[in-house]
Amino acid sequence: MGWIEAVKRIATDPSVKVICPVCQKVYLKVRDIPNENNPSEVQRQMLCDKCGAFNALRLTK
Ligand SMILES: [Zn+2]
Repeated sequence: MGWIEAVKRIATDPSVKVICPVCQKVYLKVRDIPNENNPSEVQRQMLCDKCGAFNALRLTK
């Protein structure tokens, strides 16, 4: 699974277990960061503890 598919799944459900698309060894950690400038928007960050891979997407509530 690549980043595109991983991001698509996490966008739908942040609790889903998605294996890191880069190292394929561990599940991505997901967290939502509120956008201080725009309360209706959050940034959902995906991080791999193992290899440091990172991606983020914007979600509107
Ligand atoms: Zn990784």
